[in-house]
Amino acid sequence: SRIPRIVILGAGYGGIVTAIGLQKELNYNEADVTLVNKHDYHFITTHLHMPAAGTDNPENARIEISKLIDEFKIDFVKSTVVQIRPYDKKIILEDSTLSYDYLVIGLGGEPETFGIPGLKEYALNIRSINSVRLIREHIEYQFARFKQEPHRTDFLTFVVGGAGFTGIEFVGELADRIPELCREFDVDPALVHIYNVEAAPTALPGFDADLVEYAMQVLAKKGVTFKIATAIKEVTVDGVILSDGETIRSSTVVWTGGIRGNRMVEEAGFDTKRGRIVVDSTLRTKDFENVYVVGDCSIVLNEEGKPYPPTAQIATQQGEIAAYNLVAAIRNTPMKDFKFINRGIIASLGKGEAIGVVGTKKLKGFIAAMLKKVVEIRYLYKIGGIPLVIKKGRL
Ligand code: FAD
Repeated sequence: SRIPRIVILGAGYGGIVTAIGLQKELNYNEADVTLVNKHDYHFITTHLHMPAAGTDNPENARIEISKLIDEFKIDFVKSTVVQIRPYDKKIILEDSTLSYDYLVIGLGGEPETFGIPGLKEYALNIRSINSVRLIREHIEYQFARFKQEPHRTDFLTFVVGGAGFTGIEFVGELADRIPELCREFDVDPALVHIYNVEAAPTALPGFDADLVEYAMQVLAKKGVTFKIATAIKEVTVDGVILSDGETIRSSTVVWTGGIRGNRMVEEAGFDTKRGRIVVDSTLRTKDFENVYVVGDCSIVLNEEGKPYPPTAQIATQQGEIAAYNLVAAIRNTPMKDFKFINRGIIASLGKGEAIGVVGTKKLKGFIAAMLKKVVEIRYLYKIGGIPLVIKKGRL
């Protein structure tokens, strides 16, 4: 019989771990595996707040896909997916078409704008290598512009929308970067303002109140002004309009306020919630038993029936189970149920500072920051072994 064809869409955390799992497990000629990704590199999304602020080089956040997969076992196709056709078992790429017997969707998320006017047009996003390079260059350019027009303090005002995980990690780095930029551009640090605006009643939802308090104190000391329980009502060319009536004049708005699934999966006709596909315990879609979904594109419910937050941690664990279950499907052996194991979560607050919860232990300060590094290095080891740790681990 014909060799089954597996197509994996996206080489993010979920997709790359699925691909690596398949290449380890499958025997010669057991399946044809194709991995499709927009770029020829995988990027460490959890690290992007640093190159966005300019405290690290974007090169450190990306890894060539050819270094991670064995090209004798997996075909890599660098292309953009434009349409998923589950009824025809076809994927339309920008430049060709692929057919599959089994599909893995790992295309990641998109910024959720909640319909806030101007957000799409005027705000920057921390989503990819390209988007963070833009933020870094944009920030530097505002300092350069200010030297030409010294009355324009809005060039030195930075608004970050969202005080969730990404927003907090980014303001921590930005606050670390500002003194360096002030020296480089001969700017009085007192003229620079960083605002972190959050509509929810607290920053960092999901963390205990005492850790949130600690995080906000650390960041306030570095110069961040918080506006919690305040919504951004509109973004304009001149800045942001807030729900309390205040207007902040700013030439830089970075939006981290939410993630939704990929629009393409909605258009494909899957059962979705905010663009994320509801999967069963084996990570397959309800309507197509040959389609698996991993990462930010999927929704997995916890024991209380609430969706787990989309993280790299869950995407990685899903990738392992998706690979296992694909092999099981091909060999006609029993599948495994996916169960999320929470290994803890750590949010960085800039250099040498972080907060975290691991098991029942709450961590803060230097220890948490060290642990964050350990987690990152563990991931590098998992996907690329010692050579990758040495190359990208920044030890
Ligand atoms: P992604 O990693 O987003 O990858 C999707 C891939 O698909 C990308 O390679 C993309 O180029 C590709 N792609 C997209 N569209 C197309 C297309 N049309 N055609 C072809 N290819 C396409 N999570 C944690 O667990 N811990 C953390 O500390 C943490 N920190 C974070 C910090 C920041 C600044 C951010 C932004 C996120 C953080 N997260 C963290 C969340 C985590 O990064 C995401 O949940 C995770 O990346 C989701 O993985 P994924 O596999 O779904 O997709």
